[in-house]
Amino acid sequence: KEEIDEKDRAAAPSELDLALEAEGEKFEFQAEVSRLMDIIINSLYKTKEIFLRELISNASDALDKIRFMAIGDASALETKPDLELRIQANKDKNTLVIRDTGVGMDRNDMVNNLGTVAKSGTANFMDALAEGQDLSLIGQFGVGFYSIYLVADKVRVASKKNGAEQYVWESTADGVFTVVKDPRGDTLGRGTEITLYLKDGAKEFAKTDVLEGLVKRYSEFISFPIYLEKSYK
Ligand code: ADP
Ligand code: MG
Repeated sequence: KEEIDEKDRAAAPSELDLALEAEGEKFEFQAEVSRLMDIIINSLYKTKEIFLRELISNASDALDKIRFMAIGDASALETKPDLELRIQANKDKNTLVIRDTGVGMDRNDMVNNLGTVAKSGTANFMDALAEGQDLSLIGQFGVGFYSIYLVADKVRVASKKNGAEQYVWESTADGVFTVVKDPRGDTLGRGTEITLYLKDGAKEFAKTDVLEGLVKRYSEFISFPIYLEKSYK
């Protein structure tokens, strides 16, 4: 009996799960983006770890942006003074969380930048793939974000921009994404937190020792501290 109760608790939806379900606004991905995501989520491409390079690169760009804004207005950093990137794996939940204290995104940024606005690179990249080019080139086509679907079948992005409310974006790469005001309020101060729900074939990316080597490899040209948080569970 107790065991069942434990399991029920683990499966109980969170406040955020409920908000996404009940109040979330659904958007269709731009058609080419949707096709690209379909290719990526079904890809048999072996070098899946490149998703981490893309996430670190995006976090670094976002940190660069707020650092630049702070040159004109130092108070821009007050919402979160430290400019950094944190990576946290959870082996029990099979999740990987990447958090930066960069510029963040508001609701419109999420809707536009993570799905609805067409990018010329999307079609060009699919053409390149069809011609046998390596999937690893994804970042050069301006669609690196979607490489997360090499390793995840669900992704949640929480983000907080100065002067805006914290919002959450979620997609299981099924043609639509959901956006909702974060019912937890402002938990980030400023920046972006990306949670990857890892596919069965990608559970190794919830292991700190695997991540350590990758973070070292991909952080060579990153000018912000990256913390890889150890997970004991
Ligand atoms: P690119 O980095 O070449 O612009 P991506 O597909 O990697 O293309 O990312 C798409 C867009 O999503 C970025 O241009 C940015 O606007 C937004 N974005 C992605 N990750 C972050 C992040 N961590 N913080 C803020 N914005 C982000
Ligand atoms: Mg990028």
